[in-house]
Amino acid sequence: MVLDKARAPLTQREVEKPVAREGQLVIRVDCCAVCRTDLHVVDGELPDPKLPLIIGHQIVGIVVGEDRRVGVPWLAWTCGVCNYCRSGRENLCDRALFTGYTFDGGYAEYAVADARYCFDLPRDYTSEEAAPLLCAGLIGFRAYRVCGNARRIGFYGFGSSARILIQIARDDGREVVIFTRENAAEAHPLDAAIIFAPAGELVVNALRNVVKGGVVVCAGIHMSDIPSFPYELLWGERIIRSAANLTREDGRIFFERIQSLRIETQRTNFPLERANEALDALRSGEIQGTAIITP
Ligand SMILES: [Zn+2]
Ligand SMILES: [Zn+2]
Repeated sequence: MVLDKARAPLTQREVEKPVAREGQLVIRVDCCAVCRTDLHVVDGELPDPKLPLIIGHQIVGIVVGEDRRVGVPWLAWTCGVCNYCRSGRENLCDRALFTGYTFDGGYAEYAVADARYCFDLPRDYTSEEAAPLLCAGLIGFRAYRVCGNARRIGFYGFGSSARILIQIARDDGREVVIFTRENAAEAHPLDAAIIFAPAGELVVNALRNVVKGGVVVCAGIHMSDIPSFPYELLWGERIIRSAANLTREDGRIFFERIQSLRIETQRTNFPLERANEALDALRSGEIQGTAIITP
């Protein structure tokens, strides 16, 4: 399913089966979970996508010619030599490539991926169970870790990522307060907040709720403008920051963390040729759980 230009539906098309260059794997796609970021790419809210493009960055599949299942995440490649890469912050690499954005992704029967950025997945998860872990789980977990040892954490938005993280947070003994459209402006003291929904005004709502020294973490890649707010909301060493992309180390820490915890995900399946319906359902908020694209 190919994106030819932003703000247009994906087109079903036969394309050449991808060929692996040195260090890459060819993967027969089992499934690819849909992420909110896919919508931002399709809707033209992220600059300079590769075009034409195969979107999708939560890929699970079998390496062609091997008996090995891998997960392909958002981070497709980094330069390895810049200051960010050399200081454990490859998530910030200026030359990084991202799966399903600046590098072809998984809404397809086959994908290629740099072997160094693929993850081996826990064996006791089916491919469909594992796919949402690759971004919703993994990048969400990076945002969660930024909250440090906050005891009471507010989640603004309750999609795939929040549904996975709440299981980890509760297992860690944290209290989680969920804010959705209905209660987004409610007053509720928080030690930290994670903003999953792409709505800038939620940053201000969250800032009103976090205690002194608390952090508001923006977990999404795109957000509407943050409205201006009185400085006193930030005073008291409150912090606003984003959590961007992932490092391979994040993946290692995440999969290690869930070894002792069975993450349950709610999913709705769509055959590959109906990927546009999956995107529309996510856009309109009608989707039950995470949409899974299956070739
Ligand atoms: Zn770099
Ligand atoms: Zn994602």
